[in-house]
Amino acid sequence: MKEIKPGPGCEGRIALVSAPWPLFDRPSIQLGSLKAFLEKGLPELRVDAFHVYLKIAQAIGYPLYHVVSERSWMAESPYAALLYPDRMETVARYWNRKGRGHPRLKSTDFDDLCGQIEAASLAILDTKPWDAYFLVGFSICLAQLTSSLYFIREIKRRAPRLRIVAGGSACAGALGEGLIETVPEIDYVIRGEGELPLLQLTEAIRVSPGCTPLPDIPGLIHRRGPPAKDTDHQVPDLDELPIPNYTDYFRDLASSGPRHAFLPKLPLEMSRGCWWNKGGTGCAFCNLNLQWSGYRAKSPEKTVLEIDTLVNRHQVLSLSFMDNLLPAKGLEERFHAIRGLGLDLRLFSEIRAKTSRAVLDAMASAGMREVQVGIEALSTGLLKKLKKGTTAMDNLEIMKNCESPHLPDLTGNLILGFPSSDSQDAAETLDHLTFAFPFRPLKGIDLWLGYGSPLWRDPDRYGIRIQGSHSEYRHLIPREELGKLRLMMLGYHGAVKQQRRMWTPVRKKLAEWRAFYDRMHQGPGFEPILSYRDGQTFLIIYERRLDDEPMTHRLKGTSRAIYLFCETQRSMAEILDQFPQFGEERITPFLRMMVDKQLMFREGERYLSLAVPSRHKA
Ligand code: SF4
Repeated sequence: MKEIKPGPGCEGRIALVSAPWPLFDRPSIQLGSLKAFLEKGLPELRVDAFHVYLKIAQAIGYPLYHVVSERSWMAESPYAALLYPDRMETVARYWNRKGRGHPRLKSTDFDDLCGQIEAASLAILDTKPWDAYFLVGFSICLAQLTSSLYFIREIKRRAPRLRIVAGGSACAGALGEGLIETVPEIDYVIRGEGELPLLQLTEAIRVSPGCTPLPDIPGLIHRRGPPAKDTDHQVPDLDELPIPNYTDYFRDLASSGPRHAFLPKLPLEMSRGCWWNKGGTGCAFCNLNLQWSGYRAKSPEKTVLEIDTLVNRHQVLSLSFMDNLLPAKGLEERFHAIRGLGLDLRLFSEIRAKTSRAVLDAMASAGMREVQVGIEALSTGLLKKLKKGTTAMDNLEIMKNCESPHLPDLTGNLILGFPSSDSQDAAETLDHLTFAFPFRPLKGIDLWLGYGSPLWRDPDRYGIRIQGSHSEYRHLIPREELGKLRLMMLGYHGAVKQQRRMWTPVRKKLAEWRAFYDRMHQGPGFEPILSYRDGQTFLIIYERRLDDEPMTHRLKGTSRAIYLFCETQRSMAEILDQFPQFGEERITPFLRMMVDKQLMFREGERYLSLAVPSRHKA
């Protein structure tokens, strides 16, 4: 291997880069965590974190950046055109086709956009002292492939002796091997969690700038070196991690002037991995845990300390938990402890549909305002195929709970056309959607087949055949390179058109639901569509209707008590046990009537009341 020597005077500096298109309104948790870890491990080292995406967002304007960053295929387009200028026309046609349905994107001239992005990128490339670093690390995750490759190529042109290491979810497993084989400018790839391999790599190069070969570093692949050993290279205890260092992002934002000022959000993590994905048996479509094995969580004390420190350091109050799945145990206590800080926080997190009402209450009291819930389907048969471990009733229960005015707003998706889903799944979904109309609408999404997901590992089980990289990449990356790269999203064959047809009525119903819900909430304030007020001996259910007076339903005595008992889903046996004096012969017709009126939901022998309390019960 040819010896590469760093430039003079660069022994003490490395740079970390996050290229477009992460959300611009927050620092990169990857960069913040790695910077803090390296500086703790090597106190004399200087680590510069470049949030290139913030600069690009400022160059093209935050609103346009935001719209593009929400669409991962479109986001890959501008830098694909800059990387392969002779393919500009192909990429522009692709961009125009994908952006047709969006007014902001439709009116954006792709050539002009690329021109602005190139000018802003060159300004960064030409002003940073690349020769002053001995190593530059790229964090490459969703929608950061072409932008990272562009910056890697351009940096290497400016500083050929500089070594470049890539990591992040786009480098996990075989993806990283494909990257190092195809992109000559990348010297090393870190597969999996980055902290320990990056620290060891930095130390090895710093101590011996021309060291060849490198010592064995678990998790690190290098060109023509031996393959990375499959040894564990994770930080065993997340409490050992230092608090993320976001100072570079906040300094860049502060120096950008008042025109670009906004209040950022702080990314945080309580855990890494997913406890539901034990042994890789998690949700069938999911590949979010490629970088981690097992599940590790920080202690509640550590989480509270991080929040307190970061909020005070940066003087912002909006926080996003980046966890794939929050810890299952002690979650209520964790949020009580966060509330104990006395901060007026605004929190966001992804949560499981089985999150209890008590935990939601604790989250809300700590400042949780929005939750992304792993709904994915409203048919229990389909949820089984998805291996979600939930039922349609679990999903409706959390959708109902999140409709309570004091609880966090829910966002969630419905996967349409999942391989092996059948007409019964689609029919059941359509039926259950009519019960979901009072709640926040879900977004229908197409499945994308992700590298490393259970679906990818066992395609036969779902009746599909994998076809290599997803066909959308063909519009972005030249055929020869595409043949060598192994990429995150894959194409597949297997009744795709048939699935699309089968789910068309659901797609239409989703649009109807969205229109209905938006019209019902046009006015000021938020009034649930289906709510109740409790008179202690009686209960009045209010059912708001479009262009009509609300329908009311009065429940007295035991009927009221049963309705309140079923605020959490209950089995028939539990109901009979709770109301022995009422008897099955009276309970069954009552429940049937409530389900017919869509005031309750029934699944098998379980029942759930659908109205939410109109005021917060302490
Ligand atoms: S979708 Fe969420 S719960 Fe399911 S395996 Fe992935 S991270 Fe875990």
